[in-house]
Amino acid sequence: MNIFWHRRDLRIDDNAGLYKALKSSDEVQPIFIFDTNILDELPKDDQRVVFIHQELLRLKAEYQKYGGDLWVFYGTPQDVYQKLIKEQKLQAVFTNRDYEPYARERDAQLHELFKEEGVEFVGAKDHVIFEKDEVLKDDGTPYKVYTPYMRKWKEKLNEFYSSSYPTRKYLSALNQVKPNPIISLEKMGFENEQTQEFPSREFPKSIVKSYHDNRDIPAIKGTSRLSIHLRFGTISIRELSRFAQQHNEKYWNELIWRDFYQMILFHFPTSVNKAFKPEYDKVQWRNNKEEFELWCKGKTGYPMVDAGMRELNKTGFMHNRVRMVVASFLTKHLLIDWRWGEAYFAEKLLDFDLASNVGGWQWAASSGVDAQPYFRIFNPESQLQKFDKDERYVRKWIPEYGTSKYPSPVVEHKMARQRALDAYKFALNKS
Ligand code: FAD
Repeated sequence: MNIFWHRRDLRIDDNAGLYKALKSSDEVQPIFIFDTNILDELPKDDQRVVFIHQELLRLKAEYQKYGGDLWVFYGTPQDVYQKLIKEQKLQAVFTNRDYEPYARERDAQLHELFKEEGVEFVGAKDHVIFEKDEVLKDDGTPYKVYTPYMRKWKEKLNEFYSSSYPTRKYLSALNQVKPNPIISLEKMGFENEQTQEFPSREFPKSIVKSYHDNRDIPAIKGTSRLSIHLRFGTISIRELSRFAQQHNEKYWNELIWRDFYQMILFHFPTSVNKAFKPEYDKVQWRNNKEEFELWCKGKTGYPMVDAGMRELNKTGFMHNRVRMVVASFLTKHLLIDWRWGEAYFAEKLLDFDLASNVGGWQWAASSGVDAQPYFRIFNPESQLQKFDKDERYVRKWIPEYGTSKYPSPVVEHKMARQRALDAYKFALNKS
């Protein structure tokens, strides 16, 4: 029997690793593992776990239509595979590659186990268009600046990109089994209640077509909201990228930012908790806990920041323009370490993705690859004037806005701006 292990790819269509597995054998068993190493760290009402559970039910039903089933395990991947190896005659395990440090370490350890047991471990590229060393500078090193990377990326598009993997054609190769029930969320200690809305997986044609005009206005639905689906692979990046290429270049370029950050994480895994540009780790953060709490709760007295944080707390989503504003405010106005903000986003965002989150935070803190310069400090009031002129967004998320109940600013802008400049200059030895 050959296993196909679903991870960040909770779909059948155009799934590169699944396609490889189905072509390799006529007895392919798809599986998913609720990994306790990951789950044990999450809050019990985590909506992402609810999302995954729903998607697994959907996948199971799909496989069952073809006489197969999705086996869902709960435990560490090491334990699950040790058991599977004992109980089944495994020849190979197929999966799609994951570039996060934890996943790479986990896969390296499993590789050892598989080698000992004579099981082949086969990876495929599915989560991105280009991975690892596929888009490099002419001197063979990774790009650290987005625009030339994006240009080279576009030049390199190849035949694998232009068509989808026809997985459905080969589903007769599924292991034919009786359906198994799925483990419940309660059994894993999670709440079984969907309290946040999960965005649709449909490609929103009209939004993408006018993306360049509307993408910066948080009060309107001007962005695709597909991030959760890209994160969990419930849509195919190849199909979305082809769609983007056809309809809107600006939107396409954003998908390339995603590949760029995945590539950076792969080559520079220490950037997860170290400044990409080391000198920025010398910034003396103030790390005031009360101010951090106010930021988390959306009570800083800066409406654009507060609206964003409240949107995040309530929905698990925040508009990209506002993510930039709140991140800049935390790191520059409050001089709080970007790692604190990154961790808060990691807990709250439905679309949390380590590569893009660290990339976004280090961009805002100026310590990252191709980041904004340290002296560029968003003025949250001007951002409001520019991107939410009629205050629709802030009024939506801050009911007490404009009343005496709304807090006064936690810091004064001019003073905070100067303080940030001084702290950065000091760290970077600039006078
Ligand atoms: P759209 O504007 O419709 O874009 C389409 C897709 O392109 C997105 O779904 C996403 O996959 C990709 N994309 C767009 N902008 C970026 C970007 N700047 N960097 C990388 N990919 C991008 N994105 C995440 O997916 N997960 C995160 O954890 C995350 N954390 C962020 C933290 C900060 C501080 C900042 C500034 C940005 C972060 N982003 C993150 C990037 C971006 O904000 C979101 O991808 C976007 O807001 C998701 O909404 P959307 O699907 O409507 O995006």
